[in-house]
Amino acid sequence: MNIVVCIKTVPDTAQLRFDSNNQLMHDNLEWVMNPFCEYALETAVRLKEAIGESATVTVLTVGDARSKDALKKALAVGCDQAYLINDDRFNGGDTVTLCHILNAAIAKYVPDAKLVLFGQYSSDQMSGNVGPGVGQLMEIPSLTFCKEVTLSGEQATLKRETEKGIETYTMTLPGVVCMMKCDYELRMPAIKGVMKANRTEIPEVKLDDLGLSADQVGAGGAFVTSMSFTRKPQKTGGQKIDGSDPQAAVNQLIDYLHQQQIV
Ligand SMILES: Cc1cc2nc3c(=O)[nH]c(=O)nc-3n(C[C@H](O)[C@H](O)[C@H](O)COP(=O)(O)OP(=O)(O)OC[C@H]3O[C@@H](n4cnc5c(N)ncnc54)[C@H](O)[C@@H]3O)c2cc1C
Repeated sequence: MNIVVCIKTVPDTAQLRFDSNNQLMHDNLEWVMNPFCEYALETAVRLKEAIGESATVTVLTVGDARSKDALKKALAVGCDQAYLINDDRFNGGDTVTLCHILNAAIAKYVPDAKLVLFGQYSSDQMSGNVGPGVGQLMEIPSLTFCKEVTLSGEQATLKRETEKGIETYTMTLPGVVCMMKCDYELRMPAIKGVMKANRTEIPEVKLDDLGLSADQVGAGGAFVTSMSFTRKPQKTGGQKIDGSDPQAAVNQLIDYLHQQQIV
């Protein structure tokens, strides 16, 4: 049973700072694994542990050198192989070009993948397109918003959370599953795992390795172009009413509600 996990590296949301033109400041930005990808990874490692020796977990990311730490972490928590897919010709791409890149990488490096796990969406661009998009290109089924996966032979049982409750599905493999936050804890890498990760070579994959042409990736292959970003106006402090004199406070509040034509 070969399992693939696609992970994305994103800016740590706790660190985001914007300049006076509302542009994201890139200096000293910390890059971390997308939170839902952490759950996809944990799910894969748990499935591998349940299956035993015959299972492998391969991790793929399309990104630059900043993504290497996330790949090392994936190896340290129990994944077998990791690939950094990095080429300047990918720049200017959209979700479609990204799906082509991941589909080609899976076909080349894990051609017999049975389960391909994704995060439900990324914390920075949040399209949620990539998992189902790769499933379409692979011509295999996909299920989104999952929080639990169990395997039995060629069947996966998937629990999916909706506003109404938990739905349970079965899926005939191979298939794509997009993971939300799960009920279980994420593991921390142990020292032994970190040492193994440091010894494991992480191959850097280029466009030419994937059998794709330059016009299928990057700006040439993109259908959607991001044009601008405007931050929402900052919330103002509101109007404070001094409550030391309750009667005066009530009068002030009523005046305010009249002024605002609320009453
Ligand atoms: C090299 C490169 C150059 C880019 N250039 C531009 C650009 O010029 N302009 C622009 O607007 N956008 C650019 N992008 C961004 C790109 O369009 C988005 O990253 C991509 O469309 C993913 O969208 P998302 O984060 O909304 O994915 P979502 O669908 O929200 O992500 C869901 C899941 O898909 C998987 N996934 C997402 N991204 C990756 C990844 N990179 N590698 C592996 N798995 C992944 C993860 O499992 C993730 O949890 C670039 C991206 C890359 C990698």
